[in-house]
Amino acid sequence: GGRDGLGAYIAKPESYPSSVVVYHNDDFVAIHDMFPKSSLHLLLLPRDQTKTRLHPFEAFEDAEFLVKVKAEVQNLRKLAAGELRRKYGKDSAQEQVRRAALNADPPPDELPPGRDWDREIMCGVHAVPSMSHLHIHVIAVDRYSERLKHRKHYNSFSTPFFVPIDDFPLAADDRRRQPTQEGYLKQDFVCWRCGDNFGNRFIELKKHLAEEFKEWKTL
Ligand code: 5GP
Ligand code: ZN
Repeated sequence: GGRDGLGAYIAKPESYPSSVVVYHNDDFVAIHDMFPKSSLHLLLLPRDQTKTRLHPFEAFEDAEFLVKVKAEVQNLRKLAAGELRRKYGKDSAQEQVRRAALNADPPPDELPPGRDWDREIMCGVHAVPSMSHLHIHVIAVDRYSERLKHRKHYNSFSTPFFVPIDDFPLAADDRRRQPTQEGYLKQDFVCWRCGDNFGNRFIELKKHLAEEFKEWKTL
């Protein structure tokens, strides 16, 4: 438990059900975040013993390691996108029931290609992680979750406090290396979708996120 809680998944991934461990191989374990901050929130845990205790900024200084992590993140992003497509896509079970009720034809097999769900997933790390084992968030952009309960929960995924994996390697003078100084977690709430500023009005933000979620998923 506590800050070391993610270590157990790396040590014994096979001991968890698929509702917890999505997959594992020699080098990585992919899990569901226990307190998801979006409708889909996964974590990728590298198993490399020389890296798992490092701050991500330090771990990703190793260029060879970074290449491996980025490749695995892309795998998990694809998997997550497939999950979103199943949940919300035009050929989702929900959509099929709706069409059946309308007695409508199924959508054509070919074309249009449909929504690019890859773009609805963010992959990256927190500038100041709370958990000690190296992990990369693979999270749907919606930030719609009853577990999103605190100011820092929203801003940690909605300001430069969240560092996309593709931004690594970071420049030596990157401002995100001084996250506390930058005060990211104390910034106003800005809607990830429409850019409206909610100041520090968390309840209003939450109400708005629910509305944005409804539109986003059925777009
Ligand atoms: P961080 O802020 O360190 O980047 O994010 C750590 C993440 O780990 C959080 O999103 C949190 O919800 C998640 N988490 C914390 N403890 C556990 C746990 O025991 N199991 C799982 N699956 N996720 C956890
Ligand atoms: Zn909005």
